[in-house]
Amino acid sequence: SEAATEQRIAVITGASSGIGAASARRLAEAGYLVILAARRVERIGALAEELRGAGLAARAHSLDVTDAASVRDFAAGLERVDVLINNAGGAIGTDTVENGDPAEWQAMYDVNVVGVLRVTQALLPKLRASGDGTVLVMSSTAALTPYENGGGYVAAKHGAHVIAETLRLELCGEPIRVIEIAPGMVRTEEFALNRFHGDADRAASVYAGVPQPLTAEDVADTVAWTVTRPPHVNIDLLVVRPRAQA
Ligand code: NDP
Repeated sequence: SEAATEQRIAVITGASSGIGAASARRLAEAGYLVILAARRVERIGALAEELRGAGLAARAHSLDVTDAASVRDFAAGLERVDVLINNAGGAIGTDTVENGDPAEWQAMYDVNVVGVLRVTQALLPKLRASGDGTVLVMSSTAALTPYENGGGYVAAKHGAHVIAETLRLELCGEPIRVIEIAPGMVRTEEFALNRFHGDADRAASVYAGVPQPLTAEDVADTVAWTVTRPPHVNIDLLVVRPRAQA
């Protein structure tokens, strides 16, 4: 059919580093036109250029998922969306509930919860118009199991998990799938650094107990696999963790 020959478009939020960048590469290799979205436009611009240089289809768009006007402008700039990868997020600081910083709890809630809600809301009309839409939420094992010193992040990721479940109920019967991927420990450039306010030694110590953490590419493989299942197959929740992580 005519529709089948059109290039499918995948939006990846937080495509400037880590899991988002790796997922964008995988989806571009799978034949999607990838829309790389993040605040650090120089990074997504360079990645888009690199992908185009390899004969793949990619564009970079500025996006701050916590900013209503930014999300509105972003959505207005897209004609068509078939896949939305809600990957932007992360842990900002880590401490006990007793000693934690409320401003950091708020920031984690804004990006990991309200960011997912905002971007999904803005793109749902386009995902519906696609006729075969997919929304993916990048949560975490922290979305399912708490850990000490992680209260703010654990709460936010539990929120992201529930958003995926709620969306699946609300969209049941429509041609839009809702996938959640919950990774365990992934060694990415910045995740642990942000968690420890840029302290590289403490960040490195996170990975000491797990000899071989996942790579961003390991998670990107699961993104590409779940997204490329036939349209009637919904992978609800895929938990992926290093073998050595309890
Ligand atoms: P990175 O810190 O490498 O990537 C985070 C990405 O999110 C960056 O591209 C960043 O882009 C983007 N981002 C952050 N805030 C915003 C914002 N307000 N608007 C738009 N983009 C934003 O970490 P990871 O790749 O490790 O994390 C990706 C996702 O995977 C996150 O949701 C994280 O919670 C989750 N995860 C990570 C795990 C890990 O161990 N690393 C484990 C389980 C889940 P920019 O700063 O340019 O805006």
